[in-house]
Amino acid sequence: MSHSLSNEQLIAAANSFGTPLYVYDAANIEAQYSALTTAFTGQPVKFFYASKALTNINILKLMLHMGCAVDCSSINEAHLAIKAGHAPKNILYTSNGIHFSEIETAVSLSIHVNIDSLSNLEKFGKKYGSSYPVGIRLRPNIMAGGNLKISTGHDKSKFGVPLEQLEALLAIIDTYQINIAGLHIHTGSEIKDVSVFMKVTDVFFDLVPKFPQLQFLDLGGGFKVPYKAGDPSTNINELATEIQKFQEKLQSTYARSFELWFEPGKYMVSKAGYFITEVNVIKQTPTITFAGVNSGFNHLIRPMLYEAYHEIKNLSNPNGPLATYDVVGNICETDTFASDRQIATIAEGDLLVFENAGAYGFEMASNFNSRYKPAEVMILKGEAKLIRQRDTFEDLTRNQVEVL
Ligand SMILES: *Cc1c(COP(=O)(O)O)cnc(C)c1O
Repeated sequence: MSHSLSNEQLIAAANSFGTPLYVYDAANIEAQYSALTTAFTGQPVKFFYASKALTNINILKLMLHMGCAVDCSSINEAHLAIKAGHAPKNILYTSNGIHFSEIETAVSLSIHVNIDSLSNLEKFGKKYGSSYPVGIRLRPNIMAGGNLKISTGHDKSKFGVPLEQLEALLAIIDTYQINIAGLHIHTGSEIKDVSVFMKVTDVFFDLVPKFPQLQFLDLGGGFKVPYKAGDPSTNINELATEIQKFQEKLQSTYARSFELWFEPGKYMVSKAGYFITEVNVIKQTPTITFAGVNSGFNHLIRPMLYEAYHEIKNLSNPNGPLATYDVVGNICETDTFASDRQIATIAEGDLLVFENAGAYGFEMASNFNSRYKPAEVMILKGEAKLIRQRDTFEDLTRNQVEVL
């Protein structure tokens, strides 16, 4: 069962810790993970939380306690996962565009690596030969995902080794006797149709005979979660059923079966997150009523970057009559969270909450306009715990070197 926080809990957190404030509901994250593991009961699957969605150490520790592994997009995320207590076998580094030295570090940490270029694979082969099992990221030319910025599998994408270069890939593997333990395809984010994942399994199915040492097939992340009522979402139970059929087909055709890996980011933490702001000003213009909050795209960039929709609720007047607003930030450039949005009547001083703010919310926050990054709070067994202090003035100048 999905779990959500009450208005009272959110208001209490805002009163205790101030705004703007990110609040994460641990129980919701647990429920999401349990929905995944339940759907795939009895199947050889492994979930790696795509930690770039939200890397607070307490989130990584929560994953550890739940038994969820971690996928990393940088070597620092791998170091964070280790710091949180994850065992190397439960850490996966799906690199892209990185310097080979980060792959060397990953090997020294004994974590899994998915390599995404022929160039790095060749360097890897030269240095490690067959001694270290490794995954290879492929680009299948499948267009998927919510929009182009979050689509990674299409034919102009920088990600993965294009399937057209399969011969060159196999030649490198042969030359250095590289132990390819896994194939990886992540086609993008916000994939609502199970059929997209099954297209990927079709690609894997044809490739399996060429990779005799395979142990896992990695389908990446990208499960779609609803951001508003009526939004579609990935049907996880249907996916599990189709994956089961895929395994049976592998078994009957090749007498082989593999561990299936997934890297859900948004699915794990999006809904658990709430971003609470306070209304600084109501500005009535001839055409628009602006509600200006004490935040901006420096704290939640998804609306400006992806035109993402976040449900906005007025915590202070939840049952007031609806009125139409543009909810905007305080950054000195166009900074719109929502246009033409119906919200319960807003007064200055009201608390507005942005829902589904757990994934790519705080994680993409910056100090633009020399504003402080927000504090973060986790609701753990009903108790609000501060898990990151709000920035202070010292944080703004911490790494600057005065030479004048
Ligand atoms: C970003 C990313 C994910 C997670 O995507 P979500 O849409 O958050 O589930 C998974 N795998 C890789 C390789 C990624 O880059």
